[in-house]
Amino acid sequence: MKSFDIIVVGGGLIGLSTALGLSKQNFNIALVDPYLNEFLDKESPDLRVSALFQSSINILKKLEVWGELPSEKLCYFNSMEVYEHEHSKIELSAKEFKRSYVGCFVENFRVQTELLLKISEEPGISMFKSKVCKLDILGNRHNEISLLDGKTLKSKYIIAADGLNSSIRKLSDIGVTSWKYNQECLIVNIKSFDPFVKTTWQKFFSSGAKAFLPLYENYASLIWYDDPDKIKCLTQLDSNSLKKELLEQFPERLGDFDVLVKGSFPISRLHAHNYIKNNVILIGDAAHSIHPLAGQGVNLGFKDLEVLLRCFEDKICPTNSYLIKHYETLRKRDNSLIQNFMDLFYCGFSCENLLVERIRNKVLNLCGKNHYIKRKIHDLINT
Ligand SMILES: Cc1cc2nc3c(=O)[nH]c(=O)nc-3n(C[C@H](O)[C@H](O)[C@H](O)COP(=O)(O)OP(=O)(O)OC[C@H]3O[C@@H](n4cnc5c(N)ncnc54)[C@H](O)[C@@H]3O)c2cc1C
Repeated sequence: MKSFDIIVVGGGLIGLSTALGLSKQNFNIALVDPYLNEFLDKESPDLRVSALFQSSINILKKLEVWGELPSEKLCYFNSMEVYEHEHSKIELSAKEFKRSYVGCFVENFRVQTELLLKISEEPGISMFKSKVCKLDILGNRHNEISLLDGKTLKSKYIIAADGLNSSIRKLSDIGVTSWKYNQECLIVNIKSFDPFVKTTWQKFFSSGAKAFLPLYENYASLIWYDDPDKIKCLTQLDSNSLKKELLEQFPERLGDFDVLVKGSFPISRLHAHNYIKNNVILIGDAAHSIHPLAGQGVNLGFKDLEVLLRCFEDKICPTNSYLIKHYETLRKRDNSLIQNFMDLFYCGFSCENLLVERIRNKVLNLCGKNHYIKRKIHDLINT
């Protein structure tokens, strides 16, 4: 049986970054995921794209990963607009906050690929391409996991970065509060005939929002939130019929384009009751999942990581109570705040009542004109 300081379960953006960050702090790490390496050589542009904001970019810079990404495949956007009607709009522009960009769109697999390359250069990380199927809490401050390939690994800490349906969270008996939104999400990648302005926008409709995410070159992702039956019908359309629907239902500002690929995702909200139990630590989607309306999911995971790395700094192994005080308390509060904020948007804009519509547009209008409120929103997503 192999023994490690820390086992990281999950090789998504957060698991890979966690393993690399802790290895740089001189911990001996085991990284476990059944799909390690399988995202290399994906067709581009891929459907899984993230808007990364400054705090996430800073972590990837610290991990010496950001500078290695192919700059021609990144799309720094300099403005972000949210609206229901043209006259009531919140716009966050880089210029207003004296910055060169608001955030950056990048395909998840590109960041994962660079993280994995860095990980392969770290002597302190052992990779296991398998799935965790059993967790034993040994009591003497050590935990053991069993993998599907028959191996057993032992460590003091287990970090669960194994996503929304985290098996480590379930095996640890950590309860959750969760529900499915009455919406699914269709993602369609398109190629435009003309270059796009580097602005991301989201327009609300009572059936769900429609969003535009510019990617590199003339590519973009279109996001369509709607009820699951509608999304199912849309996924069954051929490219020409889907393009016709998109041109009819999206704002006119889209221009002309070709449809490339499409996919749909269910949308859930989940929050774990505890982030730490018996030296098992939850991070990223394993701890919290939110409506992707504001593209905050993975950014919250990076914020978790920033705090966790501080807790483990200088190889001073924190106690459980230290972690709970510094990691769980801080991150749970912040993640709840953003989750509730997203729910307010989701509920507020799903309602067809005319009075509610008037109120929400008044609020958008007021917020859109108030630099102080916009600064608060800017700081919330960037720090
Ligand atoms: C449609 C959509 C659009 C989104 N857009 C954005 C956006 O613009 N910006 C943003 O910030 N967020 C966005 N998100 C959210 C974001 O994708 C997630 O928050 C993020 O990917 C979570 O990363 P993670 O590493 O925590 O988990 P995941 O990416 O889910 O990774 C979990 C990993 O764990 C592994 N695993 C699972 N079970 C086991 C096991 N038993 N043993 C070993 N390994 C296991 C899996 O193979 C996987 O590799 C979006 C989400 C969706 C659905």
